Amino acid sequence: MKTDQFSPADHKSSGERHYMLACTSCGWRHEDDGLILNCPQDHSPALLQTEYACRQFKPYTNRNGIFRYQDWLPVVGEQRYMGRTAVYRSRGLAKTLGIPNLWIAFNGYWPERGAELETATFKEFEAYTVLGRLPEHQVILTVASSGNTGAAFAWACSRSGRPCLLIIPGRGLSRLQFQTPLDPCVRLVVIDDGDYPDAIDLAAAMCHTPPFQPEGGIQNVGRRDGLATVLLSAFEEMQCLPTHYFQAVGSGTGAIAVLEAAKRVRAAAGDMDLPRLLLCQNLPFVPIYDAWQMNLRSLNGESTERFRKAITHVYADELTNWKPPYGICGGVYDSLVQSRGDVVVADNDSVRIAMDMFLELEGTDIEPAAGVAVACLAECAAQEKIDRDSVVLLNVTGGGRRRLSQNYTLLQAKPHLRLRRESLADPDTVQKITALCVSASPIP
Ligand SMILES: [Zn+2]
Repeated sequence: MKTDQFSPADHKSSGERHYMLACTSCGWRHEDDGLILNCPQDHSPALLQTEYACRQFKPYTNRNGIFRYQDWLPVVGEQRYMGRTAVYRSRGLAKTLGIPNLWIAFNGYWPERGAELETATFKEFEAYTVLGRLPEHQVILTVASSGNTGAAFAWACSRSGRPCLLIIPGRGLSRLQFQTPLDPCVRLVVIDDGDYPDAIDLAAAMCHTPPFQPEGGIQNVGRRDGLATVLLSAFEEMQCLPTHYFQAVGSGTGAIAVLEAAKRVRAAAGDMDLPRLLLCQNLPFVPIYDAWQMNLRSLNGESTERFRKAITHVYADELTNWKPPYGICGGVYDSLVQSRGDVVVADNDSVRIAMDMFLELEGTDIEPAAGVAVACLAECAAQEKIDRDSVVLLNVTGGGRRRLSQNYTLLQAKPHLRLRRESLADPDTVQKITALCVSASPIP
């Protein structure tokens, strides 16, 4: 294939995909069917990555949203319009923190900046890319989420008419507010007294039988390459790679994706240093920080009860993933090592102060998770860990919710089924959810 003549439309007509999947551990390569999540070879867990036929960075400048980068997204065919990251050079925060080259990658709703994500977080990128990667034949995409990811998938599936089962803990329900009622093809199950890992376990139980298809989390290349568009938007605006990249992390998927994208850009645009990943967590729930501090190659097997307790004390509860993909080949640990990165933490008071500071200095409200990143950046600046020559990219992973609710009347999504943790082991639960989904979305 002549990569300089490539366009997604060519592949739509030929039925081929414009990329291959490759294993980060053994090098196994394969064509994608839109569903593959794992390498079939016998080795310890490893992420798959995409290898695109097009090696050049060539945005489709006539498209506004993330699909301007469609040559580097594992999606097939025409994609509907959606937003992308708004990247701009900071003034207020930059001056206050003493970082002259501070750039903001804003993900959320801020029309004046060109940010129009309808669920106000960068999770929308992964949702639309995962949907665009799915094959034509119908599956029920099954998603476990603590809140924002679920909102993004629910909205994307509702707009696209793709059957979806969404499982969330009760405390995430308030994040599911939309401009219109969800299409019935989206089925919402809430575990009232549950946590994110309970949702993950129930989703896994559902996916033992078709037509339920696990969305796959970090193992889905669609998710990571969708999130990678943050870096592509930044590179297009900044015309260089940042030296430092700050992002709040629960799983770390977005940061891993950004490093993958930086490697892709470096291969396309010439010799450049990769950004240092500065991963930010909210005390007291900091499993990635703890493992990194102890120089561990894999996570400590800590008790789930300790985590359940810590979660109740965390302001940015979006970040409370207690099984982050830390030790998997190509995962968090490898990305920290390859990028000469580090993990930083902020307590709740610092996060609240950082959110107020961002509103005052930059002019919009941000999500608590983004507040964690701002607080950690401020701390690093105060400790003079960033010199004045550094080019810093701050990922504001979500923001503008206040403005969104002023411009639109948002409707709270209603659960189709509410469960308690004690009922999760009951075999009837899986049957009940299956009946609920199949009645909404008859799958051939
Ligand atoms: Zn492999």
